[in-house]
Amino acid sequence: MSFIKNEDAAFVQRLFKRYYIEYGEEVYVPERIQEREFGYFTFAEKVMVRHIGFTGPGELMQMLAEKAPLHVYHSTAFYKYPRAPMGQKGWIGSELAFDIDADHLKTPCRKSHDFKVCRSCLLDYPVDVERCARCGAPLEKVEWVCESCLETARSEAGKLLEILESDLGFEKIRLAFSGNRGYHVIVSDEHVLDLGQQERREIVDYVMAAGLEVKLLGLEERRVRAEAAPDLDEPGWRGRIARQALQLLVSGNVAEICELAGERRLQALARDFEKLGEIEADRIPWSSLSASSRRILVRAAMEAAAAHVDAVVTQDVHRLIRLGNSLNGKTGLRAQIIDPNDLDDFDPMWSAVALPIDEDVHVRVIRSDGMRLHGLEIPPIYRGVARLPLAAAVLLLCRGVATLP
Ligand SMILES: [Zn+2]
Ligand SMILES: [Zn+2]
Repeated sequence: MSFIKNEDAAFVQRLFKRYYIEYGEEVYVPERIQEREFGYFTFAEKVMVRHIGFTGPGELMQMLAEKAPLHVYHSTAFYKYPRAPMGQKGWIGSELAFDIDADHLKTPCRKSHDFKVCRSCLLDYPVDVERCARCGAPLEKVEWVCESCLETARSEAGKLLEILESDLGFEKIRLAFSGNRGYHVIVSDEHVLDLGQQERREIVDYVMAAGLEVKLLGLEERRVRAEAAPDLDEPGWRGRIARQALQLLVSGNVAEICELAGERRLQALARDFEKLGEIEADRIPWSSLSASSRRILVRAAMEAAAAHVDAVVTQDVHRLIRLGNSLNGKTGLRAQIIDPNDLDDFDPMWSAVALPIDEDVHVRVIRSDGMRLHGLEIPPIYRGVARLPLAAAVLLLCRGVATLP
């Protein structure tokens, strides 16, 4: 989905250009810039221009101010000849990249906020309708992003960072909001650079707890003694599962636990939990649980503690990722670089708002669910003309749910 009219695209591009001219210096300059491939999408043709190289930050900023691209990316890989065709670049190594996208996470809110539009009639439809009732044209899907989607993605990023730091001991970690509905985490410790696809796949499996054998962790014994209970401060997945299991027990949310574990027999678990009485905050009542309740709890804890990343991105050693602090053409928001220590307090709808909120413009809106932008409450708008701050108008124009009147 993109702009409804060419004039909408041209309007947004002028604002992107203004941003890059005024704030070009804030754009993140990746280290070893001369060895990276860059690529961008143009507003007009929506084609990817690839195999670009820069000798320094100045050239990059000049390109951004001149072209004001819809999206801009750089390789996580280092090449001898970044401008050469793919097979002749001379791969030197690649950073380890993780992509978290709310689109891949099972956010239950999606059903309520995704919809379709007819771009000629400016009408909205439920997602399961294929064609416009008025003109018969095929409809385009709009993937809305709500605060709950953003919160889910942020929580996944937090889990991923913890595993990468505590278990795998990585130190050079870069974190960025994607500018839409996800996060990117890039590891550039020296010893990851020459890892191959298979090794990267194993790291993905580890952070996702894929193929993790709870039996081998000693968490699936039928008869247990109290001493066999996992300690909360144990390293690796045993301790992580223990901490998460305790949290789930304290929450007492049997329905959530069963859903996480993919388990339907709610009643037996509920009865077993009732017998436990008050849960102590520093110890799991391991031996007081039945073997089947323990099994369900461990599976639920594993699922809740795993970091859900896009495995394809991490395995790809030629991947292009969005340039930090550049603008995302799907929203007009900034792909904000974040200090990993600040993730808990990071609010994308505040910090990533890069376009003006103190200038207004009129737009004709098909449907907007309402949002909070840099502290401003933008109410839901349904089929009407509204006067909006530029940052909000651009977000709706980029999503293809509004057009200039
Ligand atoms: Zn129509
Ligand atoms: Zn949502």
